Amino acid sequence: MSDTKKYEFKAEVKKLLDILVHSLYTSREIFLRELISNASDALDKVRFESTRGTAVADKDLPLEIKITFDEKAKVLTIADTGIGMSRDEIIANIGTIAKSGTEEFAKLIAEAKGDPSNIIGRFGVGFYSVFMVAKEVVIKTKSFKVDEPAIEWKSDGLGDYEITELNGKTTRGTTVEIHLKDDAGEFVQKWKLESTIKKHSNFITFPIILDKEKVNTVNAIWREPKSSVKKEQYDEFYKFLSYDSEEPMDVIHKAVDAPIQFNALLFIPKKSGEMFFYDRENYGLDLYVRRVLIQHKNKDLLPEYLSFVKGVVDSEDLPLNISRETLQENVVFSKIASSVTSNVLSYLIDKAKNDATAYAEFWKEHGKVFKLGYMDFVNQEKYMELLRFNSSSAKDEKELVSLADYSSRMKEGQKEIYYISGTNRDALAVDPHIEIFKNKGLEVLYLYDPVDEFVIQSIRKYKDFELKSVDNVDMKNLKDLKDVEEKKNEVAPLAKDDQKQFYSLLSKMKSILNDRVEDVVESKRLVDSPACLVSKDDSMSSQMKKILKMTKQDVGVEKKVLEVNPDHALVRNLVKVFKTDSNDEFILKVTEQLMDSALLQDGSLEDPHKLIKRLNEMMEQSSSWYVDLKKMN
Ligand code: ADP
Ligand code: MG
Repeated sequence: MSDTKKYEFKAEVKKLLDILVHSLYTSREIFLRELISNASDALDKVRFESTRGTAVADKDLPLEIKITFDEKAKVLTIADTGIGMSRDEIIANIGTIAKSGTEEFAKLIAEAKGDPSNIIGRFGVGFYSVFMVAKEVVIKTKSFKVDEPAIEWKSDGLGDYEITELNGKTTRGTTVEIHLKDDAGEFVQKWKLESTIKKHSNFITFPIILDKEKVNTVNAIWREPKSSVKKEQYDEFYKFLSYDSEEPMDVIHKAVDAPIQFNALLFIPKKSGEMFFYDRENYGLDLYVRRVLIQHKNKDLLPEYLSFVKGVVDSEDLPLNISRETLQENVVFSKIASSVTSNVLSYLIDKAKNDATAYAEFWKEHGKVFKLGYMDFVNQEKYMELLRFNSSSAKDEKELVSLADYSSRMKEGQKEIYYISGTNRDALAVDPHIEIFKNKGLEVLYLYDPVDEFVIQSIRKYKDFELKSVDNVDMKNLKDLKDVEEKKNEVAPLAKDDQKQFYSLLSKMKSILNDRVEDVVESKRLVDSPACLVSKDDSMSSQMKKILKMTKQDVGVEKKVLEVNPDHALVRNLVKVFKTDSNDEFILKVTEQLMDSALLQDGSLEDPHKLIKRLNEMMEQSSSWYVDLKKMN
């Protein structure tokens, strides 16, 4: 034992171990799942090396996991014939955490009310869970590399570990010997081990041998005909694969034969993982070739916007010795990937058609991620069919509208699809920009989610209809569409002379606002409001500009056009004042106020103080008039 060397765990490992060693968790049994999963990964790796032709030590050893236990000594042993580890590898793999995210992990554990069972495996720190039950762990391991010596690693999980070179162990693989804590005696009982393996590790593709008996089902259920797989099996497999404790929302099981053969067994989870945002790398499908695992969490079989889909894909038509690095360039692989993607999209389209309520449930959970698919031009048609929005025709905030729904309700002569963006439905419903649309009975899509703007900008068109922001619509396109609502309190048009005065008033307003606006013009869109701001050109909507500004992109300051409603009572009064004295203070004040209100409504008022001061002054004045009028003095 002369060459025993002590090492210290890295700080982040210590922190993690501290959480695991000193807390009492209800589902400590998951340590077994994690160790078996590591053994299975190690077996996958050695099989992968040998199929690609690497020289592998003990190449005829059966690929399997053996579990033995000593009830008296309270020692549990998990042995695999996998890839093993060299000294450097064990230091790098167990002792440091390669992935960042321990911090997030600790936070999640705290939020999960102290039970890390479903989080730990997903974070790539599964091994350490053994210290929930162990007072000491001894690992004996021999790398698949022929010349690499076997080593022993030993630790009590408190702060350091030691490594010794072994002369005794010579066969390839890893043995993890667990000296159980006094209160973890159940893990040397056969029934407990067996039920735990069946519960968490049943679908491991290598035999798990407990006390000389194989305890798991080794069949690849994705290769079996759909008719022979029961719902419970799908559910169980899904839970195994995803660490989810619930059943999946959907199961998509496909066997494709031509032009390329593959089987896919895919699942849509009931709940969107907030995990996605913590851990964006943690997605992908498991890729098998002829039942042999080639890659865990392959990220090229599905685009990122479908990353909520879990599952496996297995093909006969890929070479077993394919390298993961060149997968993306492989034509067969690309064809499989595009077929998998289009299968998922078609499945969703059917789901939406057959069961709108179920689709709404799907949208609520996964819509946010799904919307990120606006760059998938290849599948854009299907993508567009699957999008959902709220709109002015919806009963409430929850109702969802598809572009197909919208287009089926379009008015005669309507050639565009209209949308407006903002923070919520209530605000959008009273936005002055949509007054004319209400008047003409035109539906307007309501976009609340910032990403919706990007979605709309990149799809641009649905069928023959362009998508248009209400503040960018060419009013000529609305002119020929009939009003549906009788205008309330219809006002007589301005007399000829007043009309002239009104235009002069607009010029006056322009001179007051000067270069803060592009122009001041008569409005053809306003019904209930006195004024609003519109973009002069057909460029980005103002919401889009706000988003770009937020991301610090220079969009320049765009001057807008102030539109004034000649039929509004306030404006009519202004005309009267203007006729009497075109330089009246009051005109100045009201113009400033209209401008600030319009900016506020647009979300681009930078400083509200002047607006509030002016408003208070005006209220003060009108309160005096009110008191006089009602003779309250
Ligand atoms: P993960 O499995 O997500 O990588 P773990 O904490 O479970 O995280 O394991 C850390 C690493 O230790 C593994 O990635 C692997 O490299 C190594 N390892 C663990 N168990 C074994 C084993 N039985 N055989 C070979 N390597 C192993
Ligand atoms: Mg692991």
